[in-house]
Amino acid sequence: MQGSAGVRTRWTDRLKALWRGNKQFRLLLTLELAVMLPAAALIFLNFHQLKSLQREKSLEAAIHRDFQQMLAIAEKQINQKAYTKAEAIRDLFPSPDEDMVQQSQKLDWILSAHPELSHVFFFDANRGFLFRSQPSQARQPYFVEEHEALEKSFRGWFTLEGKSILERTRKKNRPLMWYGERMKRNGNYVYMTTAFLVLPHVSTDRVVLGGLCFEPDYLKQTFLPQMLDALVAYKLGEDGANPLAMMVQPVDAEMDAGSSGLTGGYWMKPLAASAGWTDGKPEVSRNFSDVFTGLTLGIKFQGTSVEAIGRNWVRRSFLALGVLSLLLCGGLVLTYRSVSKEVALAKLKSDFVSNVSHELRTPLSLIRLYAETLELGRVKGQAKVEEYYRIIRNESERLSALINNILDFSRIEAGRKEYEFRQTDIAELVSNTLDSYRDQIDEHGFTFERRIEPDIPPVQVDREAIQRSLVNLVNNALKYSDREKFIGVKLYRADRVLKLEVADHGIGIPRNEQSKIFEKFYRAGDPLVHNTKGSGLGLSLVRHIAHAHGGEVAVDSTPGKGSTFTLTLPLDPAAQPQADTTARMAG
Ligand code: ADP
Repeated sequence: MQGSAGVRTRWTDRLKALWRGNKQFRLLLTLELAVMLPAAALIFLNFHQLKSLQREKSLEAAIHRDFQQMLAIAEKQINQKAYTKAEAIRDLFPSPDEDMVQQSQKLDWILSAHPELSHVFFFDANRGFLFRSQPSQARQPYFVEEHEALEKSFRGWFTLEGKSILERTRKKNRPLMWYGERMKRNGNYVYMTTAFLVLPHVSTDRVVLGGLCFEPDYLKQTFLPQMLDALVAYKLGEDGANPLAMMVQPVDAEMDAGSSGLTGGYWMKPLAASAGWTDGKPEVSRNFSDVFTGLTLGIKFQGTSVEAIGRNWVRRSFLALGVLSLLLCGGLVLTYRSVSKEVALAKLKSDFVSNVSHELRTPLSLIRLYAETLELGRVKGQAKVEEYYRIIRNESERLSALINNILDFSRIEAGRKEYEFRQTDIAELVSNTLDSYRDQIDEHGFTFERRIEPDIPPVQVDREAIQRSLVNLVNNALKYSDREKFIGVKLYRADRVLKLEVADHGIGIPRNEQSKIFEKFYRAGDPLVHNTKGSGLGLSLVRHIAHAHGGEVAVDSTPGKGSTFTLTLPLDPAAQPQADTTARMAG
C-alpha cells in the first residue's frame, strides 16, 4: 500500500513539476481539455450515432412513416371528393312519390348532366327497380351487356338485401355506402365504384334506395389522375423535399400479373398515376377502404428510392464528419505550432532581458572603475592616463551602440522607425566608419582587409542606418571568431546593385540556423555564442535596414570556416528610396 502511495506521490509530484515548469505543456493541456477533448467526444458520438442510424435504417423508417401518413391523408381527400360528388348528385334524385315515368325521366336527366356516371338506379321495395344507363354508350355491345348484367344482379340483390343495406347505411354518418368492383369490359378488366344512396325526405319505414355507378374511364382517366396530381403538387410545394409520385392500382395487381397473366398485362400498369411516376414498385402502399375498395394507393420519390436517399445521407454525413475531424486535427497541429512558437519567443525574450542587462553592466562598471581611478589621480604616466581615457571612450561607444540597437528595435516594433534618405557617397561613409573602428579591430589582434571599388556612384541611403548595419556586421565578425582572426570588408558594384560584404574566418553558422539568425532575439546554439555578450537584435536590424533601402541581406557560411554577410543595395534610381524623404516601416 505504502509503495503504491509512494509511487503515486512521485508521479503526481512529477506532473505538478511539469505543470509549473513547462508553459507549453500547460497551454497544450488546457487546450486539449477545453476544446479538443469535447470536440473529439462530439465527433465520436456522432460517428456512433451515424453507425447505428445506418445499421437500423432509421432514416428509411422515418421516411416510410411519413409516407404512410401522406397516404392516409391522400385517401381521406380522395374519398372526400368522391363523397361530395355523389352527395351533390343525390340531391337530384327523384322522390318516391313521383310516378315511375317521371322518375325515369329524372334519372335520364341526371345521366345527361353527369357524363362521369355510367349508370343510375332507383329501388323502391313497393314499386320496383329502375336502372338507367348512359345513352351515349348504348351502342356499345359490351355496355348493353354490362347494363343487363348489373340491372339483374342489383335487382336480385336489393330485393333480398335492400332493407339491410338501407339500415346499415342509415347508421353511417353520411348517407352513402360504396361498393367497388373489378369487372370485364371488352375482355379487359376495369374498375368501377358504385354509391348506394339513402335519399332525402323519405320516411324511415320505406325501403327506397338510389344509386350511381362512376364510369370506369372517368375514374381512370380523369378523377384519379387529377386527384393524384393535386396531391403530389401540394407536397411539391414543401421546401427541399424530393419530388414525389403517386399511383393507384388494384390490391392484387402484382399477384394477378404474375400468376394469371391477364390480357394485355392491363393490371401490370397502374390504374392511374400522377405525373412523374415511372415504372417500378411503390415504396409504401395503402389499401383503400370505403370508396375505392379493392384498390391500393402507392407512393415513391421521383427518380430515386428511399434506400438511395438513406445511403446518400449517411455517406454525406460520414464525409462531413471526416472533414470535421480533419479540420480538428489541422487545428490541433496549427495551435501546437503557434503555441510552440509563442513559447519559444517568450523564452527568447527572457534570454534577451538577461543578455542585455549583462551587456549594460560590464561597460558601465568598467567606465566607473577607470573614471574613479582617474579621479583619485593615482594613475602614473601620460600613456596610462590616455589608455584609461581610450577604454572609457570605447566602452561608452559600445554602450551607445547597444542602446541605439535597442531603441531602433523598439521603434521598429512600434512601427515608428523612420529613415532619412539622402544622396550619399557610400564609399566615403564605409571608409569613415571602418576608420573609427580600426582601433578596436587591431586591438583584438585581427588581420583586416578592406577593398573599396573606385567610382562608386552616390546612392540614396540613410547614413546612420547604413553605418549601424556595418558596425553590427563588423562587431559580429569580431565576436564570433576564435582561432583565425580575420575581417574583410568589400564594397563593389555588381549588375545594377551595390554590395557591401563583411567576411570573417570565425566559427561560422550551421545551415539550419542561417535563416533564423535574422529573426529578432535569435542567437545560435554554439557555446561560443552563449559565452559572448549579445542581444540577438543586430542582424534583425540589419535586415530591416536592408529592406527599407529596397535591398537585401544574405549570409554565406560554413561552420568552422567563417561567414560572409552581404548587404545588397539597389543602384537603379527607380528601385532606390525617394530623395529627401523619410520612410516609415513596420518591423
Ligand atoms: P547577437 O550578436 O547580439 O547575438 P545578432 O542578431 O547580431 O545578435 O546575431 C544573431 C546570431 O547570429 C548570433 O547570436 C550568432 O549566433 C549568429 N552570428 C551573427 N554573426 C555571426 C558571425 N559573423 N559568425 C558566426 N555567427 C554569427
